[in-house]
Amino acid sequence: MASLQQRLPENVPGDFFVDSTCIDCDTCRQLAPDVFRDHGDQCSVYRQPETSDETRKAMMALVACPTGSIGSTEKHDPHIGIDAFPCALADDVYFCGFTSEDSFGAWSYLIQRPEHEGGNILVDSPRFATQLVKSIDAMGGVRTMLLTHKDDVADHQRFRERFGCDRIMHAADGAARFGVERAVSGVEPVQLENDLLAIPTPGHTRGHMVFLYRNRFLFTGDHLAGSSSRNGLTAFRSVAWYSWPEQIRSMERLLDYEFEWVLPGHGDIHHADAPLMRRQLEECVAWMKTRT
Ligand code: SF4
Repeated sequence: MASLQQRLPENVPGDFFVDSTCIDCDTCRQLAPDVFRDHGDQCSVYRQPETSDETRKAMMALVACPTGSIGSTEKHDPHIGIDAFPCALADDVYFCGFTSEDSFGAWSYLIQRPEHEGGNILVDSPRFATQLVKSIDAMGGVRTMLLTHKDDVADHQRFRERFGCDRIMHAADGAARFGVERAVSGVEPVQLENDLLAIPTPGHTRGHMVFLYRNRFLFTGDHLAGSSSRNGLTAFRSVAWYSWPEQIRSMERLLDYEFEWVLPGHGDIHHADAPLMRRQLEECVAWMKTRT
């Protein structure tokens, strides 16, 4: 629950505000860019919502915030934000909201599929929030949980206990330590299902993986994200904990695949047709090589 006493001075006056517990995960800005901005090391409200749609997005940000740092002085129906998640992105892919402080507000995603097509897939772990768990249950539960890397596992164990899902993770990121049901090893891609491929991408961490679904959606963890300032794609040099050169090589290997959506844990979602996405990936690789 955000505290009015800790309201950041960078907020404009009015209803919504961010308090000093903000960890600058950027989720609020991504969800409601007309209301929230990153003013440096934290986010704040730079413009109060004026329409019902802007209020709805501000309430979604309030619910999704990992640290409960967003508050409002007026009363709003909390279900405006709560019931918006999981939030449809495209086809059968949803953003879960309810990010976790344990994974620094990383975004997680739900793929909703009928049981006969393999059942639902959770990509990385959201916060184990009662309201979200109920919604996921109503959408068919979770059969499989894909974990891109060790930083974004959050409440994976509780989702496993609640839904009995099988978790998939790379051995080099501690799959055994986390007790996951299936470990991937090496750097060769692994066909998990007909339309689902695990691609090891060491760099951010040693056992980082991305997951390609239907040759359309690439779940990229902390490996790759959209960037409006670069007008395409970007990668994060300052958090390449394992190896930046290795991350560049991993990125080059992604040129072998076709996809239209980049769905990251941190950073912006990016959508482009496959040929443009490929060009943007080439540009990103070239840019990464200048940042050694
Ligand atoms: S979602 Fe919460 S923690 Fe993340 S930047 Fe916004 S206010 Fe800060």
